[in-house]
Amino acid sequence: MARYNSVIDAIGNTPLIRLNRASEETGCEIYGKAEFMNPGQSVKDRAGLFIIRDAQEKGLLEPGGIIVEGTAGNTGIGLALVANALGYKTVIVIPETQSEEKKDALRLMGADLVEVPAVPYRNPNNYVKLSGRLARQIALTHPHGAIWANQFDNVANREGHVVTTAEEIWHQTGGDVDGFICAVGTGGTLAGTATGLKRRSGRIKIGLADPRGAALFSYYTSGELSSSGDSITEGIGQGRITANLEGFTPDFAYQIGDEEALPVIFNLVREEGLCLGGSSGINIAGAIRMAKEMGPGHTIVTVLCDYGNRYQSKLFNPAFLKEKGLPAPDWIGRPTQIDI
Ligand code: PMP
Repeated sequence: MARYNSVIDAIGNTPLIRLNRASEETGCEIYGKAEFMNPGQSVKDRAGLFIIRDAQEKGLLEPGGIIVEGTAGNTGIGLALVANALGYKTVIVIPETQSEEKKDALRLMGADLVEVPAVPYRNPNNYVKLSGRLARQIALTHPHGAIWANQFDNVANREGHVVTTAEEIWHQTGGDVDGFICAVGTGGTLAGTATGLKRRSGRIKIGLADPRGAALFSYYTSGELSSSGDSITEGIGQGRITANLEGFTPDFAYQIGDEEALPVIFNLVREEGLCLGGSSGINIAGAIRMAKEMGPGHTIVTVLCDYGNRYQSKLFNPAFLKEKGLPAPDWIGRPTQIDI
């Protein structure tokens, strides 16, 4: 095992884990990149690191400065851990609807948390726009200044995946990779990894796995940004072409409903010992669809974005699932079967 001088060096270089049921079902080799093994337990540590490094290189961050961001949670956690390790502070704007577990993780890191109502992007009080305004306001008064991380339109996010995620996948598979697919929050993971892999080999196919309520499936299949329905997944589901998505086009696009993604998540816990968040379910269901479309014998990689404990109160809570009209597996919340 490697020896590191800082937690920052432990970001990235995550393993690929074979998803056995998905592979057997499709006759393909389907692998998940275990991003939940990053120190902040999600794929967004990479964005946090690259955004902060980029700001440092551009001379935008003073020692003791504040990093402000609007996030569904994971980017905030990634930014906070890198910021703490490097001597910065974080102010995180998060929609109230996001899981309490992610908010607790942010509080634990010492981030200043601003919870706001979840309103659409076109509303000026949307968490992303509000975080931008807050950053400008804090920058005027704080003695060490402030920056806005701006993960959606800051392409340092995508660049992190071009130079790390894509390269890791290429080397881990020995170049034997035919497809990569994942969902989009900012688009950094999908567009960045796609760019890096296509640079390695133009024959690698890229897929988009879009949850209901997002507009990208419609955009890439019909040219129109339109959406309907919704999803209990967090951190994904984009309604516009962010700067991170500019210039990107997938080879395949799928819309995945929660009723398709959730059984994947629940089966993985019981059959493969992998407990993942909802966006990973969308990703794996997308990988299964892409494998079926490409045919047996292909190697397809997707992303295991974060760990299931981040959603214990929602995705793994029978009362929450019932309220949403989604089926809960019988083993969650079941009294023990052992008599003593
Ligand atoms: N899954 C989860 C759980 C996330 O928090 C995020 C980031 N918002 C994503 C997937 C999507 O990643 P990206 O922002 O790189 O598109």
